[in-house]
Amino acid sequence: MSAQKHRVTLLAGGVGGAKMAEGLAALPDVELSIIGNVADDDEFHGLWVSPDIDTLTYSLADVIDRNQGWGVADEGHRALETLNKLDADTWMSLGDRDFGLHIYRTMRRLKGDRPSVIARDVARSFGIKAEILLPTDDRVQTRVRTDAGWLSFQEYFVRERCAPEVRELVFDGLEEARPAPEALAALRQADLIVIAPSNPLVSIAPVLGVPGIAAALKASGAPKIAVSPFIAGKVVKGPADRMMAALGLRSDAAGVAERYRGLAETLVIDHADAGLADEIRAEGLAPVCSEILMKSGEDKARLAREIVDLAFAPALAEASA
Ligand code: GDP
Ligand code: CA
Repeated sequence: MSAQKHRVTLLAGGVGGAKMAEGLAALPDVELSIIGNVADDDEFHGLWVSPDIDTLTYSLADVIDRNQGWGVADEGHRALETLNKLDADTWMSLGDRDFGLHIYRTMRRLKGDRPSVIARDVARSFGIKAEILLPTDDRVQTRVRTDAGWLSFQEYFVRERCAPEVRELVFDGLEEARPAPEALAALRQADLIVIAPSNPLVSIAPVLGVPGIAAALKASGAPKIAVSPFIAGKVVKGPADRMMAALGLRSDAAGVAERYRGLAETLVIDHADAGLADEIRAEGLAPVCSEILMKSGEDKARLAREIVDLAFAPALAEASA
């Protein structure tokens, strides 16, 4: 095997995205760039919070709370206690260590620094070798329509614990957003583009929806491989299954293929979903079966290895299947 590194660009949301990112980051022959989701961002206590970008950062820096899959391990909540005493809304659980990052990000934003540059600097300070990129430096925010009215994404996700049925999703600011030059470059220069097993509707759609991002992906001649966040018709975590069903979409790996039609050539699905292969092919994606539940670091690196071999050493991937 040559010592040349493969430039891999990953589109990722939070928890599912970070697992895939960790797997790819563990491969010695991969140079990884990750385009994260900023549509979950919101302001709390005057601070700009970027949950999906922070999940990527904390995971790759190995300071993530592994039980929760988000937030920092060994965390305290003294700042939140004070805010609670002061009658502030504290449903968004922000830990003390975490607050430090939000203070820093907000300070840099107030100075006029580009959010992409701030995210890059944070990642470097945390010792991360992969590039963490933003699809846009502009403000894009997911809004969720429920029977009780419109909610911000964090109100829906954290405060209401995804209980209300989702009637409609909109991304405020998406149509006017300008793509970040670093994200466009990462798509242009990629040898392989991977779509993480993230929520297709609220993590991947607002990345691809930034004008210019989907076009750059489509213009790339690199292989494009997506990984299903659904296993046996269920999500591992989160509301993607209920969300897709409530919006009249198929909530299984074939529904994911439908979302990524024309955007990826290959969909990696679980062995449990082998029965959906024909329906996935009908959407124009080639299904590849694997074990796609990632629990340990070994699971993540093994799946990442299979994806990279699928792109660059297909014979090897088949032989080991
Ligand atoms: P969020 O922003 O934190 O909600 O995370 P993402 O959008 O990146 O990922 C959420 C999706 O990750 C859910 O739909 C899960 O089904 C999926 N997911 C979580 N863990 C795994 C895993 O180990 N394997 C696969 N294939 N999907 C996973
Ligand atoms: Ca998210």
